Amino acid sequence: MTRLAKFKRITIKIGSSLLVDNPHGLKTDWLNSICADIAALKSDGKDVLVVSSGAIAMGRALLGLGKRPLKLEESQAAAACGQISLARAWSHALGEHNITAGQILLTLGDTENRRRYLNARTTIDTLLNLGAMPVINENDTVATSEIRYGDNDRLASRVATMVGSDLLILLSDVDGLYAEPPTTNPKAEFISEVPAITHEIEAMAGAAGTELSRGGMVTKIEAGRVATSAGTAMVITSGKQQHPVAALAADGRATWFAPNGNPVTARKRWISGQMETSGIVTIDDGAFRALESGKSLLPAGIRKVEGDFARGDIVRISRVDGTAVGQGIVAYDMAEATKILGCKSEQIAELLGYSGRSEMIHRDDMVLKPRAAASKSTDETATKTAKDHA
Ligand code: GLU
Repeated sequence: MTRLAKFKRITIKIGSSLLVDNPHGLKTDWLNSICADIAALKSDGKDVLVVSSGAIAMGRALLGLGKRPLKLEESQAAAACGQISLARAWSHALGEHNITAGQILLTLGDTENRRRYLNARTTIDTLLNLGAMPVINENDTVATSEIRYGDNDRLASRVATMVGSDLLILLSDVDGLYAEPPTTNPKAEFISEVPAITHEIEAMAGAAGTELSRGGMVTKIEAGRVATSAGTAMVITSGKQQHPVAALAADGRATWFAPNGNPVTARKRWISGQMETSGIVTIDDGAFRALESGKSLLPAGIRKVEGDFARGDIVRISRVDGTAVGQGIVAYDMAEATKILGCKSEQIAELLGYSGRSEMIHRDDMVLKPRAAASKSTDETATKTAKDHA
């Protein structure tokens, strides 16, 4: 599959106007064609996630709301009716290829809040590991303007980076980026490669959108910034014809945005860089050797925990002599961690009363300092946290 061949985990965002026709409703033939493309990607061994718009557009058609502007509560009601139909349509169309669909409805806090981010990511990862295909949308029935993504380009870029996708495909009714809006200049130059999102590229984005979808080129470029800065490549291509992913695989017309690194490095940079730590997890020598060889941190290797952390917070990882060796996202809160430290993972269910994760910090959620940089943990945050809990 040519240029698509190297990608392993692909998030595909599908705009409303591709899936839904107003007033006729779902475009079944188009849906069947994209499901055949998805099945081909999956049989090539790729993980595929879909961010599907269309709930409000579908609800409009179902409720006979026409094309008039909708009040917030009407959009929410339309989404409530439309999302059921949309999910059923995906489930049925994917089922024809023996693919099981799993519906995920997200609100902004699910990617902004670390605990919820971790939780949403685990659910999506689990679905993928079980061979199912996540079909994701914003939870439009409860989202109001202050707490919403607002458009699915933005949502898709957050989802793609959250799950470590190496490619985000934006399918919409535009075939890519032009140096000027093609509506005003039909001879505008087509841009097929964007090595980096510069001011010049931003200036090229018009505000074009259609009646059914909110996202124009401006939101696509914003999505590109989110995706590429976290190491996810992005491509914009038209989904107007059937089998749009097969067309892309055959090197069809598209604008490709190059990533700034690889997904793991970018996510780990997020972990190591921006956040204060909420506690300290002290590990024994065996656990330290395991971490150095790329393993996760299990409760068995933990000597003590300090601080006031909740599941999903960033904690510092230290050796018994106080040397800070890294930090990561902890999978249990302080009270739970205290109960299970030093224990085997099989004992977690008995100790906590529910079967939690076997790792205290998963290796994907952890950044270790380079050996030479590991230092005595004397920084203020660590010391303060330790004292608070002494
Ligand atoms: N979440 C909206 C829907 O399903 C679509 C938002 C968008 O078009 O970007 O109707």
